[in-house]
Amino acid sequence: MTAKPAGRDASHDDARAACIAATVRADVRALTRYPVAHAEGWIKLDAMENPYATPDVVRDALSAGLAAVPINRYPDADARDCRLALRASLGLDERFGIMLGNGSDELIQILTVAVATPGAVVLAPEPSFVMYRRNAIAAHARYVGVPLQADFRLDVEAMLRAIERERPALVWLAYPNNPTGNLFDVADVERIVGAAPGLVAIDEAYYAFADKSFLPRVLEFPNVVVVRTVSKIGMAGLRLGYAIGHPDWIDELEKIRPPYNVNGLTQAAIPVLLAHADAFAQQGLAIRRERHRVDRALAALPGVRTYATQTNFVLARVPDASAWFATLRDAKILVKSLDGWHPLLAGCLRITVGTPAENDALLGALGRAYGAKARDGVAMNQEERA
Ligand code: PMP
Repeated sequence: MTAKPAGRDASHDDARAACIAATVRADVRALTRYPVAHAEGWIKLDAMENPYATPDVVRDALSAGLAAVPINRYPDADARDCRLALRASLGLDERFGIMLGNGSDELIQILTVAVATPGAVVLAPEPSFVMYRRNAIAAHARYVGVPLQADFRLDVEAMLRAIERERPALVWLAYPNNPTGNLFDVADVERIVGAAPGLVAIDEAYYAFADKSFLPRVLEFPNVVVVRTVSKIGMAGLRLGYAIGHPDWIDELEKIRPPYNVNGLTQAAIPVLLAHADAFAQQGLAIRRERHRVDRALAALPGVRTYATQTNFVLARVPDASAWFATLRDAKILVKSLDGWHPLLAGCLRITVGTPAENDALLGALGRAYGAKARDGVAMNQEERA
């Protein structure tokens, strides 16, 4: 193709558009970018971050370590110190393989690419984390979603039928699930793992806020890998996820991993941060306490139903999701509206648990707009809230 001078040249625009249409895959062109809101100056309750700042004592410990990182060099491709620190903090010996990712987002991509033979199926319950589908499409796999039940439990019979029909190379189970917040029944997960002909990836992004985990059991099954992240416990900015499974699985997946995917600053930070795990655990406890308070207060608003959560967010079904979203937006509070995402999520908002002050602001804004008093004394209908 002959190069034309850059600028506002209509024939150049046409040529570029034609080249993109002929070159970029149609299914990629049909995608939209993953939406991330910019929320400087807002109360940010949309992305399941830990709302607490890194404690000063931890920051002080970090500064010296980070300043010494030789950033003119590539980082350790095996991220040995970082992996050792993780192993120690999780109590994982050499029987477990562990692979690191640039966030668990990258691990989702790596697992998908590793299994995506032409025609391979990636299967997940729906609604669940949208990146399972997006990565399947990007890897040219065929994505199959199986609806959850109305109460967000796995429809295990439908899952088993789909597994039998589709023979998926990869099944994703977010445990607890995003955006519904619940843990699936252990027996249901076991049946799915037993029936799946391929890999079952159990995504425990929210493990720190949940009462159960499959991590201690990962080697019990020939086809399970557990994926986790440090994002939700207070380190989202570092971008570090990890996959744990039998070393034979991890050895294969490592072949897809870009060698320097975990940058030097993150590698240096992780051992320091994990040495202060107690500080992060305290923040996690505060988030759990606030989760209970936010859940109770939301459920007490007229017409609102909340769902049992094992995560750092609360899923609330409200009478008018767009109006509620706009009310919060006017108060400079950002939450996630899931209305329109999936039929099971009609009228739902996903609200990350913030600091007590942030949660007060949230509950204050909603109480003023929609509390029992705001409804001019209309009696609260208990059935509405069931
Ligand atoms: N898995 C689940 C279930 C998630 O909800 C998220 C974040 N929203 C991720 C993985 C990705 O986390 P990260 O890339 O920050 O590790």
